[in-house]
Amino acid sequence: MNLVQPKIKRVMVANRGEIALRILRTCKAMGIHTILAHSSVDAEGPGFDLADTTICLGPPEALKSYLSIDAIIAAAKKTGADAIHPGYGFLSERRAFSQAVEDAGITFLGPTPQNIQQLGDKVQARQALTKLKIPIVPGDSEAIADLSSVESIADSVGFPLLIKAAAGGGGKGMRVVERKEDLESAFRLAQSEALNAFGDGTLFAEKYLIRARHVEVQVLGDGQGGLRLFPERDCSPQRRHQKLLEETPCPVLSNEQREELLKLAHSSLKDFNYRGPGTLEFLYAETGEFYFLEMNTRLQVEHPITESITGFDLVQEQIEITEGKKLPTNDFEKSVTPYSGSSIEFRINAEDPYTNFLPSTGTITEAHYPGGPGVRVDTASHQGSSITPYYDSLVAKLIVVGQDRVQATSRLQVALEEIKISGVLTTLPVLKAILDDPEFHEGKYHIQSLEEKLKQPDYLTPTPTPELELALALGGILNQQNQKRSPSQNRNTEEAVNQVSPWVQLGRQFNLGGRL
Ligand code: ADP
Repeated sequence: MNLVQPKIKRVMVANRGEIALRILRTCKAMGIHTILAHSSVDAEGPGFDLADTTICLGPPEALKSYLSIDAIIAAAKKTGADAIHPGYGFLSERRAFSQAVEDAGITFLGPTPQNIQQLGDKVQARQALTKLKIPIVPGDSEAIADLSSVESIADSVGFPLLIKAAAGGGGKGMRVVERKEDLESAFRLAQSEALNAFGDGTLFAEKYLIRARHVEVQVLGDGQGGLRLFPERDCSPQRRHQKLLEETPCPVLSNEQREELLKLAHSSLKDFNYRGPGTLEFLYAETGEFYFLEMNTRLQVEHPITESITGFDLVQEQIEITEGKKLPTNDFEKSVTPYSGSSIEFRINAEDPYTNFLPSTGTITEAHYPGGPGVRVDTASHQGSSITPYYDSLVAKLIVVGQDRVQATSRLQVALEEIKISGVLTTLPVLKAILDDPEFHEGKYHIQSLEEKLKQPDYLTPTPTPELELALALGGILNQQNQKRSPSQNRNTEEAVNQVSPWVQLGRQFNLGGRL
């Protein structure tokens, strides 16, 4: 039956930052009236300016704004939205949200509640795909009932073992266990971490793979059986089990291996009537096997690299299929999307890469973003933007595309030279280190590589010039002295430092006083 769906005329975006702006841009280009639902602390910025209508959901705390189903539905009704886009994070993968939106007679721009239930929960997805004979990371597809059940999983798959939260996300609620004697404490800690972070202490356990790569397949479903598959993304450069750099295609897969991976993604999904964008994540073991890891039932942070090499606007596609557009077929060969070139994204987060990536909050005092052929920056930040502790630390996504990987990395190198963000610490020194690393250019890295390299004392050190050395040293010394002074003396120093060379500020950022 081919249902005729009404055209979507008014979309409300219930999210913030770069992803809200990215969705608003496509909606506007499609002639759709845009509504931005925001918290009180987000009542400014380019997304706020671009939206046709804005509505405040509530105070800054996510629980009272971006995570409040009631506030979002009320805002959608008040502004006459006929569809809601959840972006990523927040409520985007909550079955209850998708259901509540549909119950309110509004279109949810994302998967059906049933899709989210079957595929978004890690334990349920493992069970469903095991039945389809998709290879899964060795472990147990049952939730862990008690300590003795995790002990028996360890007996069968060995160590290292990974205990994970079924409702997990963002690398949270995971514990690597190296030895039997650490099992009990890891189990208890993971359980309380999962309860605190997700309100659900359900755990499962699988083998912790060493030297594997993270590869994933972007899909788009029309909810009527039609599927489109996109070339794989490699997201192996990670810290704390979270992605920092993503690229497409994976630099080490042959065409045959790519086809094998895409076929696994196709077999996993073809019988679910999946609707909207989604991503099947796999680990690619050193020994050559692919193992299903989890499915993200939403648009992902790294979707722009897929857009860069295929020419698709994934948000536009999503809106059109929700309006009833059918994808040509669910036949494997025809569902594979052709691509051209190579694309890389780096996540610029407000974090201190020298102190275990702790969040860095404050005001952005300078923001200059690069451009030119093949360079895209997705950000809602600008000079004067506040980075608050309320939300995740993503400031900007630096995305490059080239005819091949060499051109893409060269463009990334130039973009790194141009970009300037001051006022908060960022992950940019890590990008510099990655681009200075010959192993990256040879494509030789796996999911543990970056953490291992970050342990080397000089991995993040910038290349000094004589002028730079002096300024960097001065910055580092100022930092050391800061610790000995009162807060009011520090405020005066801050003002003075902000007026001198940017290299001095860089020296403070890199904490280099003791080095020289
Ligand atoms: P989240 O939903 O929190 O992102 P994932 O299951 O996607 O959790 O895992 C995040 C990252 O953790 C993966 O990209 C991978 O680097 C690492 N990881 C997860 N499971 C394993 C495993 N079994 N072995 C090795 N690394 C793993």
